[in-house]
Amino acid sequence: MNKFVYMFDEGHSKQKELLGGKGANLAEMTRIGLPVPYGFTISTEACNAYYSAKKELPTEIELQILEALHSLEEHTGKKLGDPTNPLLVSVRSGAVHSMPGMMDTVLNLGMNDETVKGMASLTNNPRFSYDSYRRFIQMFSDVVLKVDGFYFEQLLEEIREAKGYQTDPEMKAEDWKEVILGYKEIVKKHAKRNFPEDPFEQLFLSVTAVFDSWNNQRAIVYRRLQKIPGHLGTAVNIQSMVFGNMGNDSGTGVAFTRNPSTGESKLYGEYLINAQGEDVVAGIRTPQPIVTLKQEMPNVYEQFVNTCQILENHYQDMQDIEFTVERGDLFILQTRTGKRTAEAAIRIAVELVNEQIISKKEALLRVDPEQLNQLLHRRIDDSFKRNVLAKGLPASPGAATGRVVFDADEAERLAKENQKVILVRPETTPDDIHGIVAAEATVTSRGGMTSHAAVVARGMGKACICGCEVLKIDLKSQQFKVGETIVRKGDVITIDGSTGEMMVGDIPMIEPKLSKEFQLLLTWADAERKLGVRANADNPEDAKKALDFGAGGIGLCRTEHMFMDSKRIPIVQEMILADTFEEREEALQKLLPMQQKDFEEIFEVMQEHPVTIRLLDPPLHEFLPNKEELLVDVTTLQITEGNTEELKKKEELLRKVRLLDEANPMLGHRGCRLGMSHPEIYMMQAKAIFHALTNVVEKGMVVKPEIMIPLVGHVNELKQMRQLVISIGEQVMEERGTKIDYLIGTMIEVPRAALTADQIAEEADFFSFGTNDLTQTTFGYSRDDAEGKFLQAYIENKILPVNPFATLDQEGVGKLVETGVKLGRKTKPALKTGICGEHGANNSPFNFAMK
Ligand code: PEP
Ligand code: MG
Repeated sequence: MNKFVYMFDEGHSKQKELLGGKGANLAEMTRIGLPVPYGFTISTEACNAYYSAKKELPTEIELQILEALHSLEEHTGKKLGDPTNPLLVSVRSGAVHSMPGMMDTVLNLGMNDETVKGMASLTNNPRFSYDSYRRFIQMFSDVVLKVDGFYFEQLLEEIREAKGYQTDPEMKAEDWKEVILGYKEIVKKHAKRNFPEDPFEQLFLSVTAVFDSWNNQRAIVYRRLQKIPGHLGTAVNIQSMVFGNMGNDSGTGVAFTRNPSTGESKLYGEYLINAQGEDVVAGIRTPQPIVTLKQEMPNVYEQFVNTCQILENHYQDMQDIEFTVERGDLFILQTRTGKRTAEAAIRIAVELVNEQIISKKEALLRVDPEQLNQLLHRRIDDSFKRNVLAKGLPASPGAATGRVVFDADEAERLAKENQKVILVRPETTPDDIHGIVAAEATVTSRGGMTSHAAVVARGMGKACICGCEVLKIDLKSQQFKVGETIVRKGDVITIDGSTGEMMVGDIPMIEPKLSKEFQLLLTWADAERKLGVRANADNPEDAKKALDFGAGGIGLCRTEHMFMDSKRIPIVQEMILADTFEEREEALQKLLPMQQKDFEEIFEVMQEHPVTIRLLDPPLHEFLPNKEELLVDVTTLQITEGNTEELKKKEELLRKVRLLDEANPMLGHRGCRLGMSHPEIYMMQAKAIFHALTNVVEKGMVVKPEIMIPLVGHVNELKQMRQLVISIGEQVMEERGTKIDYLIGTMIEVPRAALTADQIAEEADFFSFGTNDLTQTTFGYSRDDAEGKFLQAYIENKILPVNPFATLDQEGVGKLVETGVKLGRKTKPALKTGICGEHGANNSPFNFAMK
């Protein structure tokens, strides 16, 4: 018989696949003797068995659950459904990878009209017991019976108001009884059934509801975002309840063993007195910082600090811990590796090495490369005097500007139209996740640093402010007020997620600086890595930035990008549109000094670091005037019959544009094909490069130039272009009396080049695989169109696993790269090779062929 259910003392932390992250850690904490309420875990295998049985719980699993429940009853001395001494349990999801708030939970299970009476006399606290019962009905009905929480909230508010109370704590036991009767009516009306009084029915319905929640919409979206496979399934944890809402000697909270925003080694968290765990996470009441627990419950605080230390040492990483205090007794409900910002991840990893807890290699693995993007976030210019409108909690760092929206759907819609928006909500729920993804930043008026919005935004590296209570948000009229100031939907605000400040309008920003811990971590990465890393830069500023970030050189300087300047584009157009050699020469002579100056500045910045300059590779349509616009101009001028001079000019331009028009410019007259038909273009560029090199060398600097010929498909193209560059080089060097070493290589961007790489290597000192074009030409998908037309649907329908323009297709494109490297090295064993498309910056394993 397969084992599907495990008591907490039967498992350990290495069993995440089987017990889920939460279950494995609960087992581990039980094993090391921490105060964990006892319980059991229904495994992920049970979840998959449930799905295989078409969403029926197999009898075998039901029996194992009953057996485990029996052990739990023996352990606690309580019984499920026993009116004199009832066992109450929580039913929580727990997947292999943490998916905070994405799946469902039921608390206080086991309550019914009889057990509530038993609870009331046992605890001598009828008010608490009936409050717990009504919470259970609401939660169970929401999760299991799918009755909207709104009906319950509405009824509660009506009864509260009728009784003249302001807040829930004023409600008495009798009032809760009235609420419970009303709640049951709501269930009958909306779920079309009675609320189940039988605790066993409650239990099995809750277990299957949690299994079902693995496939709810928000969980699916979250998994897609976090690249979590859908077949893993979730475990379910059944745990005896402890109550943080038993009075002022009880409470509940969440804490991180180090600061998840900055990484500072200091306990960081918050709690609420007289509350249940969900109150903290849901962000409905704004909690107290953890340090104040020291005054309120000194013994509990000390025990908690010790427990945190034990857990951090045990797991050798920063932990995110949920705890409850029930009448002065501390219980740990959960521990997991804490989510953190990139800044914190780096600081924590480096400090754990300094504290001799982990190795340098381990530290490198602790920092998610995708998270490092967070460090590239902009921040508000320090010299700018801020006029702060409101201040909340600094929930996730980074600054952002955008138009205010109050609705997640709208945030998503506007972001699709390329508008920058900031999502402002009283609080967020997992249903708002798409809005948080789409918005530049999120602001909530309620909730703490561990509320949903804060956790999700931090995980995504998006700026976020939480608990900004001065905002009086009016969702109906789509505005918020701070004092007398009204900010309406569509107004621009700027927020600083690192300080929690909100300002009206657009504010100047500056680029971030990297911390000393980050620099140190990079030196550790340098010691381990097998590949060199170069940057993509085509101006001296970017070249400087590349060096600052530790790049070993420039791997791609796209010379056509140097022409993107508005003053230069007309000259480039002149060059492209020239009818005669002389006309083209004239334009080229204007471009020569500009290119030369650019190259010179880049070489001066880079000095002894190699710089790979690619000769012109523009798909011509990127530089030509727009044909449709020209046609409109010509027609308008023809109709108005005024300016004949202008009309002639435009007609001539249109004629030339039509002449150069290509049905498929991406496969057209570009790359070395341009150099083959107009060698004077590449000659001008080679001249600019060699003169720039000579000038820099004459200043006593060292240079390492690499000249790259793009889009070669046949070795003869490279042979001819190589000769051209060499002849110009020799000419300039002789003229200037200087000798400079340089390399000439090529980009492998079409399958034929990869397949004949042995021949191509005869003429190349290096290969750089241009995987953007190589992906385009291997799949036959247009780089310009595929993503907007069909690629998204391909990915959604699982025709392709991922976007091949973002993640290298190892099976196809990768095979060509591998072949290219092998064939090239057959001819030249020491041939230098590199990858140069956008994939080079993707952290998926692409380096298989490069070693
Ligand atoms: C490539 O094709 O991968 C490449 C780097 O060149 P570009 O993107 O400029 O075409
Ligand atoms: Mg290319």
